[in-house]
Amino acid sequence: MLHLIQQALRAGVVALGLGFGTWAGAASDGLPPMEVQKVGKDVYFVQGQSGAASSANAGFISNAGAVATGEGLVVFDTLGTPALGAKMRQLIEAASGEKVKILVVSHYHADHFYGIQSFAGPGVEIIAHPTSVVVFKGDNTTRRLEQRRQDLFPWVSDDTHLILASRMARITPTQNETFKLGRYHFTLIDGLGAHAPDDMMMRVEELGVLFTGDLFFTGRVPFVGDADPKLWLKGLQRMTETPPKVAIPGHGAVSYAPEKDIELTRRYLSYLSEQMAEAVANMQSFEEAYEAIDWSEFKDLPAFSLANRLNAVGAYLNAEKDALKQK
Ligand SMILES: [Zn+2]
Repeated sequence: MLHLIQQALRAGVVALGLGFGTWAGAASDGLPPMEVQKVGKDVYFVQGQSGAASSANAGFISNAGAVATGEGLVVFDTLGTPALGAKMRQLIEAASGEKVKILVVSHYHADHFYGIQSFAGPGVEIIAHPTSVVVFKGDNTTRRLEQRRQDLFPWVSDDTHLILASRMARITPTQNETFKLGRYHFTLIDGLGAHAPDDMMMRVEELGVLFTGDLFFTGRVPFVGDADPKLWLKGLQRMTETPPKVAIPGHGAVSYAPEKDIELTRRYLSYLSEQMAEAVANMQSFEEAYEAIDWSEFKDLPAFSLANRLNAVGAYLNAEKDALKQK
C-alpha cells in the first residue's frame, strides 16, 4: 500500500485525500488536472475549467459524463481534444469498471467533440443529431479546426481527425428516441437548434439525470449570442417536460436543483426578448434601450458582465427580424 502511495505521489496524482468517489489523472501528461466526480448512482462526470480554450488549459473548458449501465458505458460528449478524450475515457473506465459502448454527441462545436477520435473504433456506437452532418461539412467546422491547430497546438494538430457519428439519432422537433442499455433507458431530445443547429440532450429515465449540452448553465447567465432567445425558451421547455432531478451542463457546475436553475435561465431569456421587442417596437436605438433597461435582477449573476451585452445585441437583432416579418 505504502509503495502504491509513493508511486502515486511521484506521478503527481491529486486524488489522494479527495475521498471516496473521486478519481484523478496524473499531472505528468501535461494536461490540466482532471477529476472524475460521481453524480449519484452510476453517473460519472468531469468538469472543465472556466474561460476560453488556450494552450494553458489545453482546451479543457467543457464537461463530459458517462452512465454505467452494467452492460457498458453510455458516454455523453468527449471534451475538446483527442488527448483530453483519451484521459477522460481512461479515468471513467477505471472508476466504473466498465467499457464504453455508446457515445452521444451534444453538438458539433470544437470544445465538445474533438475527443471523439479517442472513442471511435469497433464496438463503440456514436450517435449525434441528424443535422450534425450539415454542421460537420460546413465552413465553420473547417475554419475552426485551422484555428484550433494554431491555438491548441500540440493538442490539436495535423494528427487530429474530426469524426462524424456512426448513426444519426431518430429524433425530430416533436419526437424523441429512447434506447435501452443494461439497467437504464436513455431518451435523446432535440434541442431545437437553440444554441447550435444540432443540439441534442440526453435523459437517463430511471435516474432523473439530464445531460443538457450547452442549452443550460447552472446559476449563471447563458451565452446566447445571435441565437434566437425565443427558440431557446422552447428548448428549455423540452428540458422540463419530464422534470429532471439533476442537470449536467456542457460547462460549469452540475445543478442539483434544476427546476430552480432552469427557471432562472427562463426568466432571463424571457426578459431579454420582451425588453428588446419593446425597444424595437418603440423604435429605440440599441444603446438607448440597453441603458434604459433595468437589469437589476440579473446583474449580480456570474457571467453577466461578460455575456449580457452581447446577448442583448443578438436579441435586439432578432427582434428587428421579427418586426420585419410582421410587416
Ligand atoms: Zn460549449
